[in-house]
Amino acid sequence: MAHLTGKTALITGSTSGIGLAIAKALAEKGCDIMLNGLGDAKEIEQTRQAIKQEYQVKAFFNGADLTKSHEIEALIQDAHQRLGRLDILVNNAGIQYVNPVEKFDTIMWDKMVALNLSAVFHTTHHTVPIMKEQGWGRIINIASAHGLVASVHKAGYVACKHGVVGLTKVVGLETAQNDNVTVNAICPGFVYTELIKKQIEIIAERDGMSFEDAKKQLLVEKQPSLEFVQPEEVGALAVFLCQEEARQITGSSYSIDGGWTAQ
Ligand code: NAD
Repeated sequence: MAHLTGKTALITGSTSGIGLAIAKALAEKGCDIMLNGLGDAKEIEQTRQAIKQEYQVKAFFNGADLTKSHEIEALIQDAHQRLGRLDILVNNAGIQYVNPVEKFDTIMWDKMVALNLSAVFHTTHHTVPIMKEQGWGRIINIASAHGLVASVHKAGYVACKHGVVGLTKVVGLETAQNDNVTVNAICPGFVYTELIKKQIEIIAERDGMSFEDAKKQLLVEKQPSLEFVQPEEVGALAVFLCQEEARQITGSSYSIDGGWTAQ
């Protein structure tokens, strides 16, 4: 029996990238899952079916738009009801937008704060009581290296991700004496997903270079390993935080960034 058999997880923004990799990593360990995110309905249904079949777990989908607090409340209720318990919450959904602060689109600022920061508060707000009552819970917030250090042109993203790291500490403290409920953040460096591909395309166009050269430039600037983190590696770290042996790890932030924040 895999070590998460009987456990359940809601992973936000799990229709692609890091969230999907985490969902698969948890399902591989026997966890029933609820997917969430945007995208093509047919593709999402194929993904859900594939997870169910490959890992022999229950897999549901709820397409709540996490920029809307009332949809988040309904999502948590739906996940709790359909999964029967809510053991693991992975706050992963997020967007990127890059511009100097004086040109930063104010509508994008509001959207980014709603999704990258406020949604993490709302899901946590509704889930902590469930986890306290169960006497077991894991909240894993996908922050970023940008939750620990800054870069130019990322006012919204850096502010939100620092906020997520701060929120992780507070809720870690508030649940510290609740037997086996932990709250931690994972801070990845560059992971090769759709979110990063869009950034590479912008650099390639701005600096008139090929996609491959823009990819190298991005890594040279920030990530000493000169390699992208793989989504599956973030999935493995999330699985580790769900183990019984991780019960004393709370309020922490785990870097997985090829050395980025060691500099
Ligand atoms: P991605 O674009 O592949 O995935 C983002 C997910 O969020 C998708 O499933 C998308 O449908 C979902 N989403 C977007 N808007 C939503 C909304 N309004 N409501 C619900 N879901 C919504 O990106 P990714 O790279 O996998 O990013 C996942 C998380 O990891 C983000 O929080 C991101 O900030 C963080 N992160 C990414 C990197 C990286 O290099 N890719 C590095 C550090 C942190």
